[in-house]
Amino acid sequence: MISSRPFNFSAGPATLPEPVLHRVASEMLDWHGSGMSVMEMSHRGKEFCAILEAALADLRELLAVPANFRILFMQGGGLGENAIVPLNLSRGGKVDAIVTGSWSRKSAAEARRYADVHIAAEGNGRNIPKDWQLRDDAAYVHVCTNETIDGVEFHDLPRIANGVPLVIDCSSHMLSRPIVWDHVGLAFGGAQKNIGPAGVTLVFVREDLLGHALDICPTAFNYETVAANNSMYNTPPTFGIYVAGLVFQWVKGLQYAGKRGLAAIEQRNIDKAALLYSALDASGFYENRVEPSCRSRMNVPFFLKDEKLNDSFLAEAKSAGLLQLKGHKSVGGMRASIYNAMPLEGVQALVSFMKDFEARHG
Ligand SMILES: *Cc1c(COP(=O)(O)O)cnc(C)c1O
Repeated sequence: MISSRPFNFSAGPATLPEPVLHRVASEMLDWHGSGMSVMEMSHRGKEFCAILEAALADLRELLAVPANFRILFMQGGGLGENAIVPLNLSRGGKVDAIVTGSWSRKSAAEARRYADVHIAAEGNGRNIPKDWQLRDDAAYVHVCTNETIDGVEFHDLPRIANGVPLVIDCSSHMLSRPIVWDHVGLAFGGAQKNIGPAGVTLVFVREDLLGHALDICPTAFNYETVAANNSMYNTPPTFGIYVAGLVFQWVKGLQYAGKRGLAAIEQRNIDKAALLYSALDASGFYENRVEPSCRSRMNVPFFLKDEKLNDSFLAEAKSAGLLQLKGHKSVGGMRASIYNAMPLEGVQALVSFMKDFEARHG
């Protein structure tokens, strides 16, 4: 399908696959002959239960989630999880945190309200620090595996030698690549980057970590309660789960470079990122400042060396059908978020616009 819409580089809420949007539109007034939109259904009725079960099964298959993990659909976003994780996992004790950028710094600050937080390593916002000072008696180690604002991504998950579980905030690259679960105790992410509309938070939690929530943990945010009720302790974000389920089906069916499903999405993401970074590196007009070994495949911050041209760049990009390229206010410059739903053609269009802009202003 050829899109007539502009390409949208928003960091989140972000672009969704166009076939999914068409499907949602076609089912809006009457889902599968039920006479109801998904928004209007009881979450306990057989229609919505089928939607939820299919979404859970597809997600489990796509990410090869081990059998001893529960998948929860919650609310409260990534920032909510910054509190919900320590409330459930810290036991009021020690938490080690790796700071690689804005999101992991926020997570550590919030966890401090509930636990003894130690920054085991801190990067400069453009790298992944080495030499982690981990504590053997920490309840978990928190890592943000893709820093959405800084554009720093872990391409391999750290191997924690002392058996302390990793908690990964993978909000902005979930489902862009496989997850190696070996050292992971919990993974979380808001949906609005790569999965679906804002309002759904995905949590993958290892079963042996359930059942240790602090007494002050709100019942609706106690993972054990949410898991025991199959994400229906309270009303789940039904419409968001439905759209996420359609995105999972879209990923499963995607074909690219002789691959299918998550492998196809990952290869497409690798190719999109390579195209954009190589254009940046080949130019004296633009630059990306992140160390090449940890550059994000999803979020590409870049700068015009002449920052006086920023406003013209954004205005001309918008006229060329390239939306929401402004960088995060804390970093400045530009940021192209090239999530799963961004086609290769979108990155090609961005790169050719950038070359053209450079030729006219360079
Ligand atoms: C967007 C984002 C968050 C915050 O998500 P909210 O849904 O706004 O709470 C947290 N962590 C990362 C890595 C993010 O990209």
